Formats: sequence, C-alpha cells, structure tokens
Amino acid sequence: WGILYVVATPIGNLGDLSPRAQETLQEVELIAAEDTRHSGGLLRHFGITTAMVSLHEYNERQQAELLIGRCQEGLSVALISDAGTPLISDPGYRVVRQARQAGIAVVSVPGPCALVAALSVAGLPSDRFVFEGFLPAKSQARQTRLEQLVDETRTLIFYEAPRRLPQTLQAMVETFGPDREAVVARELTKRHETVRGGSLSTLLTWAKQAPESGRGELVLLLHGAEKKQDAPRQEALKVLLPLVTALP
Ligand code: SAM
Repeated sequence: WGILYVVATPIGNLGDLSPRAQETLQEVELIAAEDTRHSGGLLRHFGITTAMVSLHEYNERQQAELLIGRCQEGLSVALISDAGTPLISDPGYRVVRQARQAGIAVVSVPGPCALVAALSVAGLPSDRFVFEGFLPAKSQARQTRLEQLVDETRTLIFYEAPRRLPQTLQAMVETFGPDREAVVARELTKRHETVRGGSLSTLLTWAKQAPESGRGELVLLLHGAEKKQDAPRQEALKVLLPLVTALP
C-alpha cells in the first residue's frame, strides 16, 4: 500500500518549505490540496509537477474514499492545505482518520503552523496552552464561548480575521477585564510581521486606530486566568486551623 503524507507548507514565507517537504511533494503520485490554484503557485515555484486534486471541507467525505483508494492501489498521496499544517483549522481530519482506520500508514512531514509560531514569540506562558481556533462569527455565540473560557488558566490561542479584531477585543475586555494581558501576532514570517503585546484595553485602542491592524493574517493570544486557591484546600484549612489553635 501507498503512504499518506501530511505535509506542512509555508504560512507566508516560501523559504519555510522544508527540503523534506519538497522531496515528498515531488515523489508522491498525487497531492490533495485545498485550493489547487493557490497551491499550484507554490508547487511551480519549487518546480514540482505532481498532479493535484482538491480537498475541501464540503467534499472531504468523497475525496477521502478516492485518496484511500489510491493508497490501497499502492500509490502515495500527500495532503497539504493553503497554508501551514493541514487539519489545524483546515481540512484533512476525515481523510487522516479514515486512512488510519483502513490501516494505511500516515506519515507527518511537519513544518510551519501559525499557532505554534505565534506562541513561540509571544512571551506568554507556553508550558500549557489551549488552541481555540476561530471563535464563532455570530456575536452571541462568540460571547457564550468567551464566557466558557473565563476561568481557563492556560494560555489561550485564537485565529481571527483582522476585520473582526476590534469587536473580538471589545468582547474580551468585557469578559476577561481590561487588564488581562494579550498578544496579537500579525503576518508571521512575512515582510510586515509584527508582534504586539499589552493589556486587552491597550490592544483594543491600537486595533481601533492603526490601519495595519485590520490587514493581513493574525493570531490572538491571551494570558490565562490567575489560578484560584483550590476549594478543597481552603475547606481543609477551615477545619484544620481551629484544631491547631485549640491544641496545647
Ligand atoms: N493550517 C494553518 C496553520 O497551520 O496555522 C492555519 C489555517 S487557518 C484557515 C488560517 C488562519 O491562520 C489565519 O486566519 C490566521 O489566523 C492564521 N495564520 C495563518 N498564517 C498566518 C501568519 N502568517 N501570521 C499570522 N497568522 C496566520
């Protein structure tokens, strides 16, 4: 049987397509790409001539059958998305799951991923984090989601459309308070890369005023909530303290 390779592609800087990714994309028989025109440009740049098929959220079920069929015929397939790592806020999950269930070898060719790149330069705690992907577009659903995250102590990472940044920061100020620390990582690996940190309220002021905040691509990171003293410990102290003071 062939192998299904999951290959990361650049998030804006062509220099980030690894030699192993180039080799894999050249050597497989078929590349499943989100937007074949977009990825066609990338492949041409590297002189890669492998045939492509499209793989979107809406056709993933049928395409999964086709790709798995190809692997079962002994052909190798590479899965890529428009940018970064497939499956991360991008299609591919069904294909990978079904391929593994069918007993096909799935091999990672890792590389760029906006959330990891952003976390690695944000200066926020990185030992534990939660990736929330895109918040719901509708304001009520978004508000509900944010409220569910109010007590989360791990660093929170969101993908966001730049035009929605002011509304999202406004909603975050209301939910998490104006002083919660946050970072906006824009245009990573590109010419106008900027990483701006500060309180939610300073970032909101910037997002409303600076024209560049509304352009390009961005990752929004939020410091986790301060840890509350855990309730069982407080309960134990309540019982123990009077005992200790009562002892001779
Ligand atoms: N699969 C991709 C990955 O591995 O990061 C993410 C795909 S998702 C559809 C696209 C989102 O990723 C953008 O809206 C933005 O939030 C983030 N993103 C992608 N490239 C970026 C970049 N160069 N700088 C900042 N954020 C980026």
